[in-house]
Amino acid sequence: MNKDSHIVIVGDNSVEGKALLGHLQQAGFSEAIGTYAWGLNLLNQSSVKEFFNKVNPEYVFLMHIKSGGILANKSYPADFIYSNLQAQSNIIHSAYKNKVKKLFYLASSCCYPAECAQPMKEDYLLSGKVERTNEAYAIAKLAGIKMVQAYAKQYGVDYITAIPATIYGPGDNFNPESGHVITALIKKFYDAKVNGADEVIVWGTGLPRREFIYVDDFINACCVLMEKYSSSEIINVGVGYDVSIKELATIIAQVVDFKGKIVFDHTKPDGVMQKFLDSEQMKKLNWVPHVALSQGIELTYNFYKSLSNINENK
Ligand code: GDP
Repeated sequence: MNKDSHIVIVGDNSVEGKALLGHLQQAGFSEAIGTYAWGLNLLNQSSVKEFFNKVNPEYVFLMHIKSGGILANKSYPADFIYSNLQAQSNIIHSAYKNKVKKLFYLASSCCYPAECAQPMKEDYLLSGKVERTNEAYAIAKLAGIKMVQAYAKQYGVDYITAIPATIYGPGDNFNPESGHVITALIKKFYDAKVNGADEVIVWGTGLPRREFIYVDDFINACCVLMEKYSSSEIINVGVGYDVSIKELATIIAQVVDFKGKIVFDHTKPDGVMQKFLDSEQMKKLNWVPHVALSQGIELTYNFYKSLSNINENK
């Protein structure tokens, strides 16, 4: 990518899309734009076509369009499957029609089988059934992977797919009903602290294990991949360690300085027991993550406080 390349970020309202757009603009990529900021309706095929004709993108980053935590996925499977299938088909096909030089498709670790050997290697994909709580979303993301591979195979285009660990950081969704676990727990622990509550309810048993990647590390990986990776084989982007939800809750309680009890609500779903990626391929590209989990949580918590204009002494 050159400083004057036409770059389009799709999903610039997601945590990683927003951060990537900000990063590129700051680095002097003067023609980098986001479809959300533009006001593009991704679900409308003719609007997407028109946008591509007008902007003439050379590079496209197709980030998360509609994603969410375990409860959102369980409650709104139709929204997740429709929005993702429709939007990604419109984008990928328009990219092909408009001769985009390179397209980056962001998939999800929920595409791997629910019962999968850990750490999960790229070639374990489609070796078993996906997790029921997010089946609709996973199927849409799997369709995206296969569409990217089909276009690469039939048309010889340079389209790539990355599977990330759970991305988190400033700019993330802090709604406890729809967000992922880190942001939901930052909000829950902070609310408990300011309200003087003596316990916080954490969903599930606390035993599931997840791998998390700080957004800045992830967007750095996206840039490395856009520059150095040209294969239709998927590639994992993880940090090389996972934590249990119980360990995660303890770290968040420490960062927020909540001194009460952590209570696990076993009536809420655990989801998959472990999602831990094998990121050996990514390592070979000389990419390394820099932000440790506790540090990333602290940065995210600071953002949350500034966002809500929260006063510690309130
Ligand atoms: P998942 O990775 O697709 O399961 O998505 P989440 O990030 O939503 O959930 C990860 C794990 O954290 C699951 O086992 C949840 O049950 C657990 N968890 C515990 N408390 C919460 C919470 O308040 N919100 C969310 N989203 N997950 C929670």
